[in-house]
Amino acid sequence: MQHVIVIGAGQAGASCVAKLRNGGFAGQITLIGAEPVPPYQRPPLSKAYLLGEMEVERLYLRPESFYAENDIALRLGQQVHSIDTASRTVSVGGETLEYSDLVFATGSEPRRLPAAIGGDLAGVFTVRDLSDVDRMAPRFEAGAKVLIVGGGYIGLEAAAVAAMRGLEVTLVEMADRILQRVAAPETSDYFRKLHGDHGVRILEGVGLDQLIGEGAVSGAVLSDGTEVAVDFVVVGVGIAPATSLAEAAGLEIDNGIRVDAQGRTSVPNVWAAGDCSSFPFRGARIRLESVPNAIDQAEVVAENIMGAEKDYVAAPWFWSDQYDVKLQIAGLNTGYDRVVTRPGEGRAVSFWYYSDGALVAVDAMNDARGYMIGKRLIEMGKTPDPDVVADPEANLKPLLKA
Ligand code: FAD
Repeated sequence: MQHVIVIGAGQAGASCVAKLRNGGFAGQITLIGAEPVPPYQRPPLSKAYLLGEMEVERLYLRPESFYAENDIALRLGQQVHSIDTASRTVSVGGETLEYSDLVFATGSEPRRLPAAIGGDLAGVFTVRDLSDVDRMAPRFEAGAKVLIVGGGYIGLEAAAVAAMRGLEVTLVEMADRILQRVAAPETSDYFRKLHGDHGVRILEGVGLDQLIGEGAVSGAVLSDGTEVAVDFVVVGVGIAPATSLAEAAGLEIDNGIRVDAQGRTSVPNVWAAGDCSSFPFRGARIRLESVPNAIDQAEVVAENIMGAEKDYVAAPWFWSDQYDVKLQIAGLNTGYDRVVTRPGEGRAVSFWYYSDGALVAVDAMNDARGYMIGKRLIEMGKTPDPDVVADPEANLKPLLKA
């Protein structure tokens, strides 16, 4: 009897089990999740859901009944602590389950501030799980003072929600500029101005030295020596792949659970997909932290469990919503050496990244058309002339046919 066990009932886990059933897999399927809720989408947690504009049920990827209807044993609120890859067993909830194939879809864990600088004070929140957001949401009341630590997408999205709810927002970014790790200076400039227009105070090149308070946070000392009063703190300082269970089980770890192009780990019949895995990409090894990657990679793993022998070819894309701006990103900008600006109307603009003369990525703000064309060009391996891209009057669509 075949039995696929998937550890981690998030985006990748849910996609994997659905694909198995849709693809005709007739064996047993068990999906195990540490959280008490059915698999849900995380992106709205720092956007519409935090803003109070989305019901919790709309976060669920599928109604809970889907799993029973498809004969998928969904075990919620159960953390897997131990696996034995020799006997092919998983211990969970006091039981030992045998698998024929095992999938790691354990996602990632937010980096936390050390207790030594006040990271364990009440009122200090990370943004990863639904429970994190349910705990912090009541603090988003007009007039409250929030300190956001970290100017990546999560921190900026939380800042946007806070500003829209009328909070007094200070955001500190230790690096020279917000989004430094993931975007060109042009994109940083764009979002710095956008937040400035909404009254957010962004401090760059400024870190957090110490949070202060008796039990609960009430202030922060910044690296430039200034002290700010705070009612609560949102920490968005990055994530780490959730690999401890895999490591204990003897799987090879390499910036995530190391998998081959088909999603196989270093141990037979054990697979990994989503945030927790690192995989081959254009001669290098990468790890992506995005919904499209979690879905696509998990589906390829499901197909390969059914014998497809298919490689996962990532076509990275991502998005972020801040105020009335939708940012859409196509491709990966790693190693870019030139950025071309394509102006649009109002807040619309796109930035096109070139590396060694080839188009590698596009950041498009309120420019769905630029994003779509850029994404398709990247996927087709085509590079538009930078002068044409920079000309707002030039129609880019014919480039797809040329
Ligand atoms: P997850 O969805 O994190 O699921 C992993 C699950 O495994 C978790 O529920 C965890 O509890 C469980 N688990 C871990 N270990 C165990 C264990 N031992 N036993 C049982 N269960 C376990 N991506 C985008 O593309 N666009 C966005 O705009 C965007 N916004 C985001 C906003 C926020 C606030 C966050 C947190 C993420 C955002 N992301 C966004 C990233 C995206 O949500 C992740 O890349 C995606 O969820 C990864 O899916 P996953 O299945 O790999 O991991």
